[in-house]
Amino acid sequence: AAKHGGRGGFRFFSRELLQAAEQRKTLEEDLHDALERGQFALHYQPMVEARTNTVSGAEALLRWNHPTIGLVAPASFIGIAEESKLICRIGEWVLRKACADAAAWPGPLRIAVNVSPVQFIEPGFPALVANALAASGLAPERLELEITEGVFLAGSSTTEATFNALKSLGVRLALDDFGTGYSSLAYLKSAPFDKIKIDQSFVRGATVDGARNRAIITAIVALARALDMETTAEGVETFDQLDMVRGLEVSHVQGYIYARPMPEAEFLANATQADWGIEPSGYARQRYD
Ligand code: C2E
Ligand code: MG
Ligand code: MG
Ligand code: MG
Repeated sequence: AAKHGGRGGFRFFSRELLQAAEQRKTLEEDLHDALERGQFALHYQPMVEARTNTVSGAEALLRWNHPTIGLVAPASFIGIAEESKLICRIGEWVLRKACADAAAWPGPLRIAVNVSPVQFIEPGFPALVANALAASGLAPERLELEITEGVFLAGSSTTEATFNALKSLGVRLALDDFGTGYSSLAYLKSAPFDKIKIDQSFVRGATVDGARNRAIITAIVALARALDMETTAEGVETFDQLDMVRGLEVSHVQGYIYARPMPEAEFLANATQADWGIEPSGYARQRYD
């Protein structure tokens, strides 16, 4: 269209850009009282133990129910919230809500909570975690905090002390989106992680540029095992990908093949089936039924 209808194409393009800019402005303005207005919700995506095919817990994923736009994905507003430090208040709500929900779940189920680097480097963060645990009664070892390497890039002098304080609380630490960004091995040396989450791009790539991506996953799994850490393959969507990551002995799997993030009640209904097992859905079910 741009080639033939030159100006028409351009007009269309700029209108799209304008709409995107306007929507961002709307989001920025409305984010400030979204919390007070009760517009946030947590959805839970099952984390599945690869060897036994059972649910080991869930990752809490934030959703914003905007009155006019509808459900807004975190990619569209976490960045905005980080610019204004609003992320600290939102992050506190997420942590308290996730701990309170999970405290009522069957014993061994864990809860994973994403923590923004902006929130992590706040001096009061370990105290907040301690408080959320105490207020909810959740056992510390059932809470897994997901952190990205952004924490190290922020270059805060308190980072090491924060890791130590969190470890002495007894919570678990996961390094999220591993393999994207710089992925320095120094991060693995310096911080006491319990789990590495292998980024979706490797899982997806393993069927396109198979050998290289599989070699990278193999190496991450070997490294994690040597350092006594678990591994999660993120974004597993097809049965071929599931077979592949199981074959590479990744310890945990998350992805649409099992379930999308869902409201708590739905998660619990799945997770508490007889043996707490979970059937791969969608593609897998079609293949085997
Ligand atoms: P993440 O922590 O890496 O979370 C995984 C993302 O992948 C989620 O997107 C999840 O819905 C999606 N996902 C899971 N399985 C599949 C799959 O099989 N295929 C595909 N295509 N996607 C899959 P979501 O919920 O949109 O969240 C995006 C990111 O936003 C998260 O990435 C995390 O970095 C951030 N985020 C979400 N909730 C929070 C929160 O409460 N606090 C903070 N600070 N960040 C959050
Ligand atoms: Mg995560
Ligand atoms: Mg991730
Ligand atoms: Mg991410």
